[in-house]
Amino acid sequence: MEYEKISCDFCGSPENSVVASQTDLLYKTTKDTFNVVKCKDCNLHFTNPRPDANTIGNFYVQDYSFHSSRNYIKYLFDKVLGLIANSFFVLFFNPFSFFNPYLIQRMKPKIPDPVLTRIKILKNTKRQKILDIGCGSGTNSHFFGAKGSLNYYKKFADVMGCEFSENARNNLSELGIFCYPFIDKIPSSENYFDIIRMNWSLEHVDKPSHYFKFIKEHLAKDGIAVICIPNNEGHVYQNYPNCLELPIHFYHFNISDIFKYAEKYGLKIKNVNTFSYPGLYYFSSKFYPSLSHYKNMSIFDAWKMNKLLNKSYTENGNDMIVILGL
Ligand SMILES: [Zn+2]
Repeated sequence: MEYEKISCDFCGSPENSVVASQTDLLYKTTKDTFNVVKCKDCNLHFTNPRPDANTIGNFYVQDYSFHSSRNYIKYLFDKVLGLIANSFFVLFFNPFSFFNPYLIQRMKPKIPDPVLTRIKILKNTKRQKILDIGCGSGTNSHFFGAKGSLNYYKKFADVMGCEFSENARNNLSELGIFCYPFIDKIPSSENYFDIIRMNWSLEHVDKPSHYFKFIKEHLAKDGIAVICIPNNEGHVYQNYPNCLELPIHFYHFNISDIFKYAEKYGLKIKNVNTFSYPGLYYFSSKFYPSLSHYKNMSIFDAWKMNKLLNKSYTENGNDMIVILGL
């Protein structure tokens, strides 16, 4: 396999030093080890060298969850477990460790989906035009679930996707959702989206700078861009720097990186929040040896952790939601 060596996307510097290394422990597509480097000039963290545009497809497994379609039974199963996991009743399952993987992974702090919030606020004013970059197959979304998918939004808004997976694009087409393969295929006649969303997709892209530029050029005057990404300064990544999703995560951003990109491309930061949830610790413990102590987390432990994380947005949450405007 050939890997490409890159310069910093933000400042162009070719100078960088290795800060972390990992193989693909999560999907096991390769035994090769990848490095994350830190730019010597601007501090941006990125995977380098990395698979190029022709080979990166080999590192996304066939059933990479957000590219495949979901059946109704699976959806109902997921919904019922999600309701139990986030209610007091979950504690009745504490003695039965059999349920741990099903329930702990679904415990989440109550964070409203910024896209849905916006649609609801403006529902009597203007039907929103939404572009979801890295939209997957359109029936599910990371963290926000089915209600954060284009298939759900389309009931209330005009939606359009952008997704490189052909499999996912075929699913979208069956749902009647138009989708482009890449942002540079979106013509200027499609200008002025009210909401441009990147739901845990910016960390996967080739050149983040192209996306910030695209947002600047395609956002409606009072529109918003919603960017959800892992926070490289979050608790997990600070304490266990090798727990990384490589090689498919190309960039490892912290809040100040996003501030710098926004400033460079003339975008305003409207809001930033970071948050964490117990499932990340529990799920990752199966793959990353340095997190293995979280494997024995009980439902009660996870419930306590979630309650704590739920109280407020934490400073060093493992994920972040950034809202940008013009
Ligand atoms: Zn740099």
